[in-house]
Amino acid sequence: MSDRVGWLVERLVAFYRGSQRDLPWRHTRDPYAIWVSEIMLQQTQVDTVVPRYGRFLAEFPTLQALAATTETRVCEAWAGLGYYRRARHLHQAARLMVERHDGCLPQDVDALRALPGIGRYTAGAIASIAFGLPAPIVDGNVERVVARLEAVAGDVRRPPEVTRIWQFAAALVETAAKPGELNQALMELGALLCTPRAPRCHECPVRDECAAHGQGRAESFPNVAPATTRKRMRIAFAWIETTRGIWLTRRPLDGLWAGLWELPSAPAAKLLRERFGGNPRRITQVAHQLTHRDVVATIYRTTAAPPRRSATLQPFRDPLSAPLSGLARKAVQAVLSNGGQ
Ligand code: SF4
Repeated sequence: MSDRVGWLVERLVAFYRGSQRDLPWRHTRDPYAIWVSEIMLQQTQVDTVVPRYGRFLAEFPTLQALAATTETRVCEAWAGLGYYRRARHLHQAARLMVERHDGCLPQDVDALRALPGIGRYTAGAIASIAFGLPAPIVDGNVERVVARLEAVAGDVRRPPEVTRIWQFAAALVETAAKPGELNQALMELGALLCTPRAPRCHECPVRDECAAHGQGRAESFPNVAPATTRKRMRIAFAWIETTRGIWLTRRPLDGLWAGLWELPSAPAAKLLRERFGGNPRRITQVAHQLTHRDVVATIYRTTAAPPRRSATLQPFRDPLSAPLSGLARKAVQAVLSNGGQ
């Protein structure tokens, strides 16, 4: 343990003990209740979680109670928190723990990460707070605090900087007598003092060892490179409707939307005409965002002769029941809400 790391841990813990907010999940040692709070807090503000957390635990007081109920009931109890995928994952994970872990949360970071809805951050939070394991966690608050303490110059989204920040968080938590307390102290510092704008360095317990503060430019960190310019992509979809249904094609098993179904397509209307013949008539247009691209898809009704059915080209009486790509689902919904015209 370096002197600096030991000093930081001592100051952070003292700050946490004196300044922590009174939040309901800080009154429990029950790993189940701590897990529920961590999942709720993943994409939702503390103020929104507080009133719903108690109600959720009153309805499902144990992991067994959660596993025994239906997914629909869990989603109803999740109302107001949004991102319902988290509720479904919570329910699936509860059932898996009943089947594989005797109805308990596993006391192991890798086993926690193997459960639905638990990533590196959440596994570290549960392991350290519920079980006292020296597992680091890096959320937005911790990333900012560490980037400032260390004056990390590079883009914090790049792998070398990500590794450096996780390693520093690991060095801190491995030094702490109570790992859960140290992790919460780092997050609390980020939430209360080391805020994205106008950090309150004059009140900060670790300012004497903060490199960014020492350089007089705390707000320059963390460095996040601006997003790369987004590319635009145009695509033409064919709406081929026969007595057997709407024709869909299956995408290759690798790459984007692997194995999902979509309307037959071409990069442009002209190519669509060449591929399907006839005189395609424009029905409607939809826009869709991918990570680095904006896609605009125009859907054309074609007068092509019925295609030959194959493993990757088939008619669907209810195309929305097929496993569609996100873009194809939007396109099909747009045409159907147009009355298919
Ligand atoms: Fe953040 Fe300022 Fe404290 Fe450094 S001194 S950790 S920048 S609040």
